[in-house]
Amino acid sequence: MPITLPGLPYEKNALEPHISANTLEFHYGKHHNAYVVNTNKLIEGTDLANKDLEEIIKKTSGDASKAGIFNNAAQVWNHSFYWKCMKPGGGGKPTGSIAKKIDAAFGSYEKFVEEFKNAGATQFGSGWAWLVLKDNKLQVMKTANADTPIAHGIKPLLTVDVWEHAYYLDYQNRRPDYLSTFVDKLINWDFVNSCLG
Ligand code: MN
Repeated sequence: MPITLPGLPYEKNALEPHISANTLEFHYGKHHNAYVVNTNKLIEGTDLANKDLEEIIKKTSGDASKAGIFNNAAQVWNHSFYWKCMKPGGGGKPTGSIAKKIDAAFGSYEKFVEEFKNAGATQFGSGWAWLVLKDNKLQVMKTANADTPIAHGIKPLLTVDVWEHAYYLDYQNRRPDYLSTFVDKLINWDFVNSCLG
């Protein structure tokens, strides 16, 4: 079974004015698609060819000789997850069980926001900021380049892509503004709640 590019959960202009259709044309149509194409090329004819995406990621994580496969496969997974973390009219304070868990783990929604944005802003170079469930506790973490919590047995609940290709067309070098907009206007808390279930 080849790895496939999942459809976007909304139209390419649906996140405007916060993330432009132009950004999604490149980010989804070019970058995400290229990770899919590259993964399929690299696993063709190997014992990973008939494995599902999560298995490919887990089997190649930490193996320097398989870094190319890991990087592409993990980026396929991370991007598919990232699109679902956003929705038009999203952002702001969550409701449901994630709201209670955030208060319990961080003290308040505001403290969580501070920690999450700080993780994204301080990830040096390319990578991702995450809200994860680790040892049954909510935590904020960041990963470099393609690295992903699922390679480490940690359950992702929310992510924001802080590679420059995610924000440069709309925000240029203002990564903190992109992060604030992501939190205030885009997070799909319904999806985050569904990940808890
Ligand atoms: Mn990206």
